[in-house]
Amino acid sequence: MVNKIKLPFLVFLLSFSFLAIDQSCTLCMHCTRYCKYDALNPEDIKRSIPGITCTLCGDCLAGCQYNSINYRYFRLSPEISRNIWLVLTVTLHTVFLGLARL
Ligand code: SF4
Ligand code: SF4
Repeated sequence: MVNKIKLPFLVFLLSFSFLAIDQSCTLCMHCTRYCKYDALNPEDIKRSIPGITCTLCGDCLAGCQYNSINYRYFRLSPEISRNIWLVLTVTLHTVFLGLARL
């Protein structure tokens, strides 16, 4: 019963974007070279949010010299947002692996 409640809750939490581009972005498009998943095309960058193909791998963070792209979850800091993302991802993987073994 508890797992039936926890799983949808975790999926709900993950359904919000964890990556955002802030107003310091100069639209230089340098970060697009770092994305292997075609999630940073000009339209996505202008919308300040990666495209739907984003895997949240974080490779693009190193590609922005202005630090404009970061993990963002609600109004939390990038560091806290990244940690929440990691905890949720590991938890979900553990839950799904556990379910797969049943
Ligand atoms: S996190 Fe990964 S998939 Fe998402 S936009 Fe950045 S490089 Fe692309
Ligand atoms: S996020 Fe950074 S690298 Fe990407 S377009 Fe904006 S300023 Fe350039």
